[in-house]
Amino acid sequence: MLEKLASQSQALDRALAGEELSLKDGVEIMEYDNLHILGAAADLARRRLVGESVTFAASYYMNYTNVCAASCQMCAFYRKGGEEDAYTLTPTQIEARVADAKRMGATEVHIVGGFHPDLQLDYYEEMMRTIKKEHPELNIKAFTAAEIFFLSKLTKTSVKEILTRLKEAGLDSMPGGGAELFHPDARNQIVRGKCTGQEWLDTIEQAHNLGIKSNVTMLYGHIEKPEHVVDHLIKVRELQKRTGGFLTIIPLKFSLDNTELEKGGNVSQECSSVYDIKVIALSRLMLAGVLDNISVYWVALGKKLAQVALANGGNDLVGTAFSEEIYRAAGKPTGSSLDELAGMVKEIGRIPIQRNTHFGTVRTF
Ligand code: SF4
Repeated sequence: MLEKLASQSQALDRALAGEELSLKDGVEIMEYDNLHILGAAADLARRRLVGESVTFAASYYMNYTNVCAASCQMCAFYRKGGEEDAYTLTPTQIEARVADAKRMGATEVHIVGGFHPDLQLDYYEEMMRTIKKEHPELNIKAFTAAEIFFLSKLTKTSVKEILTRLKEAGLDSMPGGGAELFHPDARNQIVRGKCTGQEWLDTIEQAHNLGIKSNVTMLYGHIEKPEHVVDHLIKVRELQKRTGGFLTIIPLKFSLDNTELEKGGNVSQECSSVYDIKVIALSRLMLAGVLDNISVYWVALGKKLAQVALANGGNDLVGTAFSEEIYRAAGKPTGSSLDELAGMVKEIGRIPIQRNTHFGTVRTF
């Protein structure tokens, strides 16, 4: 039945036959107006590839500084350093935060920050060692490829040496932030002072080659065109074929409040829920068989829409996001217990599984 209905779209037919989708196919899918059929195709692919479980990690988010040399138009988080609420955590504060993470039952700490213009590599190495000394079992998922690239330029040290030293100090994996959209036509309108898409990809490829696995994000719902989203997914797919180093893709809905894109009138409202679901479904179909974890970031979508996204191609909820400050800066509530996330999954008839950073099972519910 599904195959017959979907035959109105050649691209969806190809997706259902398990073929790799081109840029043209992806754009056709983004412009396809029957969300029911698109969602059903993505859900079928999800079922075939990863089954009925929905995973999530017990994650503690720590933003070590909000001081940033860049000033991206889509960011509500950064400060220049002189403001009352500008901050940089000291090693003692980091120790206290990580003790909090352990008390909350986190298995990973997710650490990102701004591009601090004064912090040198030893600050980051000490951070890694401080955490590992007290909590060697915690997975340290730290520093976006954009932060690593900035640090490389700041310290005039190669990306490879920085990653090697951080790994020796305790870095286990990397988050997927800073990817935004790789295509320069979109990227140049939303970031200012951040690496190019190609530089992000080159940096993460080096991390993968050193055995550091990572996530990858995709920021959508601002000024982009369909081809920019599809181009991003194709670049992720090509890199994944070379390294196998991505653990999951996390499409991130652009959050409008307090950003320059909002203040400058470039974006006046957040994208529709229909667009959110299309992006999740498209991600599933474009990456099928190459990167099979499609994450739904409930913090950005809200819990109810996140459930719908799980029924349209998603299979992961990212995590508990204890203490998330970046989305909070843009007006979103954050933090959720494992039981709440498990409840969300059970409500839609799927199987909740707490996972570790590398998608191994920690606990079933
Ligand atoms: S998105 Fe990151 S790099 Fe850009 S201004 Fe915000 S904190 Fe800085």
